[in-house]
Amino acid sequence: MNAALGTIAGRVRAVLDEMQRAAARAGRLPESVRLIAASKTVSVERLRQAVDAGVRHLGENRLQEALPKIDTLEREGVVWHFIGTLQRRKVKSVVGRFETIHSVDSLALAEEIDRQAKTAGLRQRILLEVNLAGEASKGGFEPTTLVAALESLNGFEHLDIRGLMAIPPPTPTAEDARPYFRQLRTLAQALTARGYRNINMQELSMGMSHDYPVAIEEGATYVRVGTAIFGARGE
Ligand SMILES: *Cc1c(COP(=O)(O)O)cnc(C)c1O
Repeated sequence: MNAALGTIAGRVRAVLDEMQRAAARAGRLPESVRLIAASKTVSVERLRQAVDAGVRHLGENRLQEALPKIDTLEREGVVWHFIGTLQRRKVKSVVGRFETIHSVDSLALAEEIDRQAKTAGLRQRILLEVNLAGEASKGGFEPTTLVAALESLNGFEHLDIRGLMAIPPPTPTAEDARPYFRQLRTLAQALTARGYRNINMQELSMGMSHDYPVAIEEGATYVRVGTAIFGARGE
């Protein structure tokens, strides 16, 4: 066991190395995949260690928890991503503060983001969250509803739609998650082929601590990794 793996910096390096190897296996450029460190429940001191070790992107689930972290790490040049369930009444505070909102799970939410982005005078980058396995416990667009949704979304001038995000159902092994990752990529390709003017499907946000190498082999452009960097959250 490598002693450096006992530190956040060591684990960041291990994850970045593993990401490079997965990209190489798939014949992809290492810079085509970005690491987002999932920062929920992690203190700002520990986040700073990750940033010092080379993490540029942080992903937060809850607005209240994110705000003081965003302020404290302001000078570090961190790019913030919103990855948790977003309530419509929080949209106003999220728009413009996070580079990308990964978890846009309904038309109503997209519409509110568009509205608030218009008020703020910006275009908000978003990804559409897809409920791949039709799990009742999870939000997200059902794959079969996405085409109809895009017809509406294409008219929202203050959204910059960049791609898809998914959290597959728990699987016994990373390998078992592969069909879900492949399904998300295929879906993005099918939607791209429809040629919507305002919609770009190049980003795929998929893969977490237990399965990110497989997600990269299947085309992930963002992986969201928490436990493998910061340790167990004790949830
Ligand atoms: C917590 C979280 C992650 C990271 O999960 P780990 O299993 O700890 O890597 C990724 N994505 C989302 C949306 C999360 O909430």
